Amino acid sequence: MVELQIEARGVSDPRVLEAMRTVPRHLFVPDSCRQAAYNDSPLPIGHGQTISQPYIVAVMTELLELAPGDRVLEIGGGSGYQAAILGTLAGEVVTVERIPEVARAARENLEAAGIRNVNVVVADGTDGYAISAPYDAIIVTAAAPDIPKPLLEQLADGGRLVAPVGGRDLQTLVKLVRKGGTIIRSTHGGVVFVPLLGHHGWPD
Ligand code: SAH
Repeated sequence: MVELQIEARGVSDPRVLEAMRTVPRHLFVPDSCRQAAYNDSPLPIGHGQTISQPYIVAVMTELLELAPGDRVLEIGGGSGYQAAILGTLAGEVVTVERIPEVARAARENLEAAGIRNVNVVVADGTDGYAISAPYDAIIVTAAAPDIPKPLLEQLADGGRLVAPVGGRDLQTLVKLVRKGGTIIRSTHGGVVFVPLLGHHGWPD
């Protein structure tokens, strides 16, 4: 998976590639999809939600430029797979998931994979998670009409934020870097995510 789908398409950060090699993706997909766990595609995880394509997980993780001590916030916990990759590379991770059953499964998956530095919180992640702010990195893994304002407020100086921003059917990967009072924005291609529903997202 890593060599053919991720390295071959240009992800080169050795720490990201190593994390993608280490975390067993099959522990994060439903039993019925185990055979397809290392395929080049998103997979259903129930409740109309999906675990993202491995290549997209790698691209977004590389854009976050994580250091070992970083505090990271993820919005859209899903299966817990992206959070497991973040936990492998950073110090501490909070992942926010709005569907309680999905969050419960994510906790079980993370435990099975032996990942202990990820806190799965059930809430509307478009409000961020102020209790543990500020964050060195914030990743949104559901499609946002715009960057939710609370997330910007919870981003540390020097912090990086990556999110799919655009319409409900197609989005652009956007990266923001906070440098003091300035925000530097760059875009990184088209992506397709399930919608971010909530207060600062799409209406439920
Ligand atoms: N990162 C996940 C995939 C995310 S799929 C993984 O690695 O498997 C998107 C997830 O975002 C879904 O589980 C959906 O329920 C969740 N979601 C959508 N809107 C949300 C919100 N406002 N707050 C928290 N989670 C949200």
